[in-house]
Amino acid sequence: MKILVGGLGHESNTFTPFLTQLQDFRPLFGEETLRESSRRGSFAGIVSTLQAHDDIELVPTLTAHAMPGGVVERETFEMLKGKILEQAHDVEGVCLYLHGAMRAEGAPAEGAPAEGVDHCENVILRELRQKLGPAVPITIALDMHANITAETATNVNAMVAYHTAPHIDPYETGEKAAAMLLQILREGRNLTTGFAKIPFLLPGEKAQSAVGTMGEMMQRVAALERNPEIISASLMNGHCWADVPDIGVIAVVVTDNDAVLARSEANKLAGAFWDRRADFDFGTEAYPVDEAVEVAMAAPESTVFLSDSGDNPGAGGTTDVTAVLESLLAHRAANVVVGSIWDAAAVDTCIAAGVGRQVSLSLGGKLDTRYGKPLDVTGTVRLISDGDTYRGGIREAHRLISRGKIVVLTVEGVDIIVTARRQSYVEPAQFRSLGIDPLAYKIVVPKRGYLTAPLEAISPRSILAISPGVTNCDVTQLDYRRVNRPMYPLDPDATWEPEEV
Ligand SMILES: [Zn+2]
Repeated sequence: MKILVGGLGHESNTFTPFLTQLQDFRPLFGEETLRESSRRGSFAGIVSTLQAHDDIELVPTLTAHAMPGGVVERETFEMLKGKILEQAHDVEGVCLYLHGAMRAEGAPAEGAPAEGVDHCENVILRELRQKLGPAVPITIALDMHANITAETATNVNAMVAYHTAPHIDPYETGEKAAAMLLQILREGRNLTTGFAKIPFLLPGEKAQSAVGTMGEMMQRVAALERNPEIISASLMNGHCWADVPDIGVIAVVVTDNDAVLARSEANKLAGAFWDRRADFDFGTEAYPVDEAVEVAMAAPESTVFLSDSGDNPGAGGTTDVTAVLESLLAHRAANVVVGSIWDAAAVDTCIAAGVGRQVSLSLGGKLDTRYGKPLDVTGTVRLISDGDTYRGGIREAHRLISRGKIVVLTVEGVDIIVTARRQSYVEPAQFRSLGIDPLAYKIVVPKRGYLTAPLEAISPRSILAISPGVTNCDVTQLDYRRVNRPMYPLDPDATWEPEEV
């Protein structure tokens, strides 16, 4: 029995001022995907579940994952889509991991339609369905920050999203997607999917799965999944930094041959979410930038992690917005490390000067010129790195990662990690690879929203700065033009009613 498998992940931020290109995806094709892919991702969960059956032959297409960023270059999207579709023949089932929030730019070719593709996953699934016909089951695993639409549910037999944010269950989500495919193929079950979406722009920072109102919502999901008539339930708070019309928070319920139950439970879940919309709040202490810096400086804890949430590369931030750094310097904060500022020209200047030398330069503010500005600083070059590090952790095996050149520039009491490429500081090991022990600092400033699990694990106290940038957690500060209106909280009086079942 041949099963088509693949994994394609991108969270496209339409405010990010650059395109995401093919090299950003580091794609693997065909058999390579089975050898080289991350061992903890959803694709691995799909593969290992299916490989446990001797009579299943996998048809691997691709794995391609890019760091969240600007919308995807059209040619790149078309190429990646083509790699999935070209093998979509003579298979008895399909199981894919798709992040679910990929947007592609308008076609650059002359005469082609200028508008972009708001929901790339829909196009892939629509074309897959057209090619394979209605009889071949398709199941998908999704990120919790997916922006899928009602059409997605019409082209797949079943779907399931991560149940955790920070994400610690991608692998298990892949296993579930594969298990649902097997239920269809082996047990002859007729899985049906209920889908409901509410007009709610909800930053992930207000929807951590283990705490607060989102925590309560996920308990409802768990209760639904204890019902033997329900195969799976998912809540996707979506990726709110995408200015596309059909955006919001999504509830999905999969049942065994009971479409009415699936729809009514999805509607109930979405309705409960909507009723609580005003209650979603940050999972950690959160303050405007200056106040966040003051609270961190006055904290009794030996170390405070202060997240620069508006410039979070984990959701498309450029990492070159200097607002938090500017506030730290203005407050004369001491014993601080900032990870990181993307500025290739500043890296070159520091390398040309050499370790121990003083430099004056204009830092950051070159990419995100809308929400950020360059900051003139004078400091001492403390360290120059080729950027090659070994990385291991909960998501992937130990391997060498080349991050591009990195310098540490010390400006007064602040050690600034400046990178030639955009980086996301998600694990203590990344700091340590530069000789920086985060816990030796009073204040650690990762450009993140909520902390990743490995950073949270060592953080004595976590504070979130509601800072400017393309991932501003105060969505009313961003210039949305295309989202459907009314949209909560842009329209505080927005109303929503579930469709009749
Ligand atoms: Zn996510």
